[in-house]
Amino acid sequence: MSDCIFCKLISGEIPSTKIYEDDHVFVFMDIMPLTKGHILVIPKEHKESVYDLSEEQAANLFRVVPKLAKALKKTFHPAGMNLLNNNGAPAGQSVFHFHLHLIPRYDETDGFKATWRTKEKEYPLEKIQALATELSENI
Ligand code: 5GP
Ligand code: ZN
Repeated sequence: MSDCIFCKLISGEIPSTKIYEDDHVFVFMDIMPLTKGHILVIPKEHKESVYDLSEEQAANLFRVVPKLAKALKKTFHPAGMNLLNNNGAPAGQSVFHFHLHLIPRYDETDGFKATWRTKEKEYPLEKIQALATELSENI
């Protein structure tokens, strides 16, 4: 896509710190890393979000994730690792070319915070069961 910044990184029109590529994926350092070693894994073909990926494209993308995670672990010795993918502006997506974040974690004050809000009262077990039934019918 001509106005997509990540497509421009893939084509080389805009420089990036590429660390890996194959026929299907392109992997590079995030320009505003949340932690040391924060990288992004993207499909070479422009796809906006998870809804647009075929099963094959998703498999091609995720296939490289373990070796990238292991390389990050070997290189930077993080204590943990978050995989993150934002879809849609309300979920925090700011670049509309699918990307999976690999965020090495060092400690709880390393700059990344995934907050988790639970609303236990809104979701009694019966309601969760009803949601599961409804959802599984749509797979
Ligand atoms: P999102 O918020 O869409 O999940 O994440 C977009 C990510 O892309 C951000 O972490 C941001 O720092 C990164 N980013 C945005 N523009 C560029 C760029 O031009 N080059 C690189 N390497 N990363 C970028
Ligand atoms: Zn793109």
